[in-house]
Amino acid sequence: QRQIHLAKRPEGMPSMENFNFVEADMPTPKDGEVLLKTLYLTVDPYMRGRMRDAKSYVAPFQINEPLNGGVVAEVTESKSSQFNQGDIVIGHLSWEEYTVANEKHLRKIDPNVAPITTHLGILGMPGQTAYFGLLDIGQPKEGETVVVSGAAGAVGSVVGQIAKIKGCRVVGIAGSDDKIDYIKNELGFDEGINYKTQDVYKALKDACPNGIDVYYENVGGEIGDAAISLLNKFARIPVCGAISSYNNKEADLGPRVQTKLIQSSALMKGFVVGDYSDRFNEGAEQLGKWLQEGKLKYEETIVEGFENVPDAFLGLFEGTNVGKQLVKVADP
Ligand code: NDP
Repeated sequence: QRQIHLAKRPEGMPSMENFNFVEADMPTPKDGEVLLKTLYLTVDPYMRGRMRDAKSYVAPFQINEPLNGGVVAEVTESKSSQFNQGDIVIGHLSWEEYTVANEKHLRKIDPNVAPITTHLGILGMPGQTAYFGLLDIGQPKEGETVVVSGAAGAVGSVVGQIAKIKGCRVVGIAGSDDKIDYIKNELGFDEGINYKTQDVYKALKDACPNGIDVYYENVGGEIGDAAISLLNKFARIPVCGAISSYNNKEADLGPRVQTKLIQSSALMKGFVVGDYSDRFNEGAEQLGKWLQEGKLKYEETIVEGFENVPDAFLGLFEGTNVGKQLVKVADP
């Protein structure tokens, strides 16, 4: 069985050199543990931060050790009274084809309620991030204008749809015409801007004739500056991500439009989804309900094969994904 290790810490954009495939022995579970077969794993932009040797809200990955993250797996052998062979579980697990985990770190998921992959996407961490960042910090009100960057991705696609549910005018910013087509025609966004081919400030000004009340920040940099320049009085900015700077060798500058923040008495607030861990049941329940009612749609870009995990991760920085990027490692 294979594991994926961090071979060395990247400088700038990571590449295949930063990963190492290692053959390892099949692990054996002890009392209270289970042996798991990895079915799906998620690659996420925040993992780039964990490749740095720096203090953050999650511990850095270690060189020559397996990377880890959200995984959906099947129990193939159980030494736990809580799990049976054949159960499907989710946990924060090592990147390996088979792994051992303690029962305390796993949650059983029911494949009959929703596809098992949704627990890594719309019903999981990215969905919760969209839900709490937009509703708790963004506080969108009916008739307001909400702008979201990274709009066709796992978080952004959910943000825009929740803003529509709340009766807002929604404008999404993304990196290809196909993605703009998707957010407008499939997800019901009012307008879309391709930041690679359009002047974002000008296009935003046209798309937001009444200004911007909520800017949900996923990318930072010049896109963030353009949105902040068009804020209305008492606008809110949930600062969720800044993917445009994750591969920078030097720290990026802050927002270069402070005067606009002052003039508009805007609230700009960073957050991590874990801030809301005591409300995850509420988030999962509401997202599940909207999904069932057909008010939320989702897309998953699924790459097949454990050997393609690094590629899938690198693709996040090139925008190869629509919706949640996942890797299918094995069939149940
Ligand atoms: P996505 O599914 O949105 O994938 C990343 C997307 O970012 C790509 O598809 C690409 O789309 C876009 N992108 C890549 N490079 C750039 C760039 N230089 N400028 C603009 N866009 C770029 O990922 P997630 O939905 O998982 O995450 C979105 C953001 O939310 C990230 O910044 C992430 O770090 C953050 N996040 C924060 C959390 C928190 O707790 N605060 C939790 C989860 C995510 P395109 O084709 O449009 O360029």
